[in-house]
Amino acid sequence: MPALWPWVLCGLAANHLALTLAGMCPRSPLLGPNLSRLPQACASAGQVALTFDDGPDPEITPRVLDLLEAHQARASFFLIGQRTARHPALVREILRRGHSVENHTHSHPLHFAALGPGGQRREILRAQAAILEAGGAPRFFRPPVGLHSPFLAPVLAGTGLRHASWTRRGADGAIGAPARVLRRLRGAGAGDILLLHDGNSRPDAQGRPVVLAVLPILLARLRAAGLSPVPLPEAVDGPAGPAAAAAAAGNPASAARACR
Ligand SMILES: [Zn+2]
Repeated sequence: MPALWPWVLCGLAANHLALTLAGMCPRSPLLGPNLSRLPQACASAGQVALTFDDGPDPEITPRVLDLLEAHQARASFFLIGQRTARHPALVREILRRGHSVENHTHSHPLHFAALGPGGQRREILRAQAAILEAGGAPRFFRPPVGLHSPFLAPVLAGTGLRHASWTRRGADGAIGAPARVLRRLRGAGAGDILLLHDGNSRPDAQGRPVVLAVLPILLARLRAAGLSPVPLPEAVDGPAGPAAAAAAAGNPASAARACR
């Protein structure tokens, strides 16, 4: 029925366009589960999740860790596998300070969403192996710049990882003005997942990574608002490792950190 071909082609094109648009929205849940906010119980408990992408970076990550410690805040670091393999001691230091490490692909390809399922799986599994080798155990995955395709959900289903995006991003990888980055994060509230970068943070006017100027002010704001930053897995699944053991032993302080 040749007369129907134009309609069939239009339908296929519309379908591909819809899938592409959904994948270009980092927070979209249309292509599979996508954590863009903490569960409601976490919001009610006044929790937020600070997440840092693209590290570890030998210059910036240690300074981010010091700032977090000074404000008694814990966070999640979405690591690039190649950088993890170069700086495993830095990953161990992140973990030692009570933060979580998560998966942000092996080589951070900006065309990740255009890869087939095999290519996406390889990027994810190589990063997972590098982070496991360094002592971490990621439970969440974030694609580069948040772009994803319909292949991501089935690929992740075979890895045990969950797709996590964000509620608000500072765009500190692109914006070098601390005031502008802070303005983008100004409305941060309970239950939000915030995105900054400890790798590829843009330099400010003085040549300093903008995240280092933004973070102390952001942390002070969160504290003044009564919000407590916690690592993603702890907020979503409850404490793991030693904290879980303490919770299992009846330590209410540790148990209270889970807000499932
Ligand atoms: Zn990234």
